[in-house]
Amino acid sequence: MPDPELRCPACGAPVPAGAERPAAFPFCSSRCRLRDLGAWFDGRYRVGGRDLEPEDLEEQAR
Ligand SMILES: [Zn+2]
Repeated sequence: MPDPELRCPACGAPVPAGAERPAAFPFCSSRCRLRDLGAWFDGRYRVGGRDLEPEDLEEQAR
């Protein structure tokens, strides 16, 4: 039985699970992950009074 197909929370695209899952899992790509995180941070947090840049999020993801 194949793994159940998951869907990217950001764009709704099918995301492969198991061994083939992308590094950005459960998102289909790092772009979608950053987009989702960005929206989340934007709505709830302001760090040091400045907006978070995508580069900041990428740095934290490593
Ligand atoms: Zn996506």
